[in-house]
Amino acid sequence: MPLFELTDVRKRYTLPGSPEGRVALDGVSLTIDRGELIAVHGTSGSGKSTLLNILGALDRDFQGQARLDGQDLRALSDADAAQLRQRMLGFVFQAFHLIPGWTVRHNVALPASFSREPLRDIDRRVDEVLARVGLEGRAGDPPSTLSGGQRQRVAIARALLLKAPVLLCDEPTGSLDTATGETILQLFRSLHRDEGLTVVLVTHEERVTAIASRVLRLESGKLASDARQEAS
Ligand code: ADP
Ligand code: MG
Repeated sequence: MPLFELTDVRKRYTLPGSPEGRVALDGVSLTIDRGELIAVHGTSGSGKSTLLNILGALDRDFQGQARLDGQDLRALSDADAAQLRQRMLGFVFQAFHLIPGWTVRHNVALPASFSREPLRDIDRRVDEVLARVGLEGRAGDPPSTLSGGQRQRVAIARALLLKAPVLLCDEPTGSLDTATGETILQLFRSLHRDEGLTVVLVTHEERVTAIASRVLRLESGKLASDARQEAS
């Protein structure tokens, strides 16, 4: 069973005053297997974030069929979708979405705040994931004392906390300079290689697609190509 299986997925946003609305995805079919590192490339407005939101069970208002781990995403209740996300998915966005008044530790621990796990176990796991992203020793600091690249590492640590097997990343290097972005991409690569994480990385930057072994190209909501390549 593929990890993701999309069949003729269509998404239309309603727009006030426009009966036809705006078509964001126009019949996308694809499968993604466990352990892939995939880039989704396309210009601004081509439907990348819409696709990622559907893969992430964040948007379940679309036509066609989408399955994650065999589950029909459109059929899920909000509670079941939340549970599926917790079990399967970590999210990384362009804007790091850290809570400024909280320490790095509390930001990273956020996904565990509804768990019944003892605090000292959560603390230990926070330390593990912070070490994994190269931020040992920074747990007590506020995000304001970190560089952009370090803030993205905190967001990645948070996405890793619950050991979800899939990372969905929307323009994760979009707020970073090229060199810093490259170190973040290499971190995704090593998480993919060493921990077997499936990584789906949405980007409008051609350069970013180089780390992937498969590149999907979106044009005006359609899958224009789906190609394997030697990752670098
Ligand atoms: P990308 O991430 O590739 O830039 P998006 O998936 O965000 O593209 O958007 C695809 C299309 O859908 C664009 O034309 C965009 O303007 C439109 N769109 C995105 N979100 C909304 C929304 N909430 N309401 C109306 N139109 C939207
Ligand atoms: Mg986008």
